[in-house]
Amino acid sequence: MADAVLVLNCGSSSIKYQLIDGAGNVLARGLAERIGEDYGRLTHAGPGGDVDRSAPIADHESGLRAILSAFDETGPPLDGDLLVAVGHRVVHGGDRFADPVLIDDEVMDTIRELIPLAPLHNPANLTGIEVARKFFSTVPHVAVFDTAFHQTMPEHAYTYAVPRQWQHDYGVRRYGFHGTSVAYVAREAARLLDRDPGEVNLIVAHLGNGASITAIARGRSVDTSMGLTPLEGLVMGTRSGDVDPAIGAHLWRLVGAGAETVDEALNRNSGLLALAGANDMREVHRKAEAGEDGASLALDVYCYRLRKYVGAYYAVLGRVNAIVFTAGVGENDADVRARSLAGLEWLGIEVDAARNVSTDRGARFISPAGAKVAVLVIPTNEELEIAREARAVAHSR
Ligand code: ADP
Repeated sequence: MADAVLVLNCGSSSIKYQLIDGAGNVLARGLAERIGEDYGRLTHAGPGGDVDRSAPIADHESGLRAILSAFDETGPPLDGDLLVAVGHRVVHGGDRFADPVLIDDEVMDTIRELIPLAPLHNPANLTGIEVARKFFSTVPHVAVFDTAFHQTMPEHAYTYAVPRQWQHDYGVRRYGFHGTSVAYVAREAARLLDRDPGEVNLIVAHLGNGASITAIARGRSVDTSMGLTPLEGLVMGTRSGDVDPAIGAHLWRLVGAGAETVDEALNRNSGLLALAGANDMREVHRKAEAGEDGASLALDVYCYRLRKYVGAYYAVLGRVNAIVFTAGVGENDADVRARSLAGLEWLGIEVDAARNVSTDRGARFISPAGAKVAVLVIPTNEELEIAREARAVAHSR
């Protein structure tokens, strides 16, 4: 029986993909990048070998065609005997999608209507779906949304205290992102704790280039730090996270800065980059070790913000089974993990120094044995989660 899912993650200038079988094995993976630019590149790894080809890729359709020809060279053949579904990552599902969904024309229209909420991402996701539906016309296509997992947030958590009609007319509310990653990690955490996913309370910190933290009560998201857009919350590589929303008006009054200038500054020129002069956390550590004050301050602000949210979500949840670190920084940065949880012993939160710096890369405990609150490091796997969800939707048709 066909059980493999082709997972597609289409950005504005790239297509990332993985072919994943029913047991979770990656049969092939690759990346078509710099689509629409002068120099395109396709890197692909399949069972029959690797492909690394540099040639211009005019658009997403050409990109997918190049990917298919790589599959022709390395196998496996992408036909109905193998593929049970194509799973598409879609960034914004607004309040319209609380679950993954089988894609039809109506779903496409709804994703299109949501473009104002994710003007950079949803159009690229849509293009990817359009092209893939042409190439794989007989296979079910499933959209898996970054926002869907957080649709369980209660009204008091997702409502901003702003004029009521802003939500009704313009969709101004909190949505949250990283939901696919958080859903995957939460299930893995329950497995590690040997508990039912529906009974655990967790605080999950997804710390990548973008960073967010989520409070999970009995397996469901009840609050998360990203809001209307992925700008709110934690300090990130280039994003500020929480700021006083009056910053925009202040700069406008002082120097006439327009909304776009401020938006650009807060999204692209803030965060670690603004404070440390580098957005890569490894580089921030190097600079701090070299005695650069800005980098030390950046680490202080980053870890302090994280600790503040852990405290807030502890209060939201009341009982916490585990705090989970995931994504690039969360999985690799023992210093950030230790510093952001330092001083929380009175809440039952402790990091074991030796476990924390272990070179083990798998899902693991870093709290001492018998700790009241487990602290876990769990490598995320969004592609695997998309494959799992897409397969479930395809099977339930
Ligand atoms: P994305 O959000 O793009 O998926 P990742 O989850 O890959 O990002 O995380 C990227 C971040 O992880 C970068 O800021 C990088 O500095 C950080 N990172 C990767 N490896 C390490 C490491 N060994 N120590 C600290 N930070 C790391």
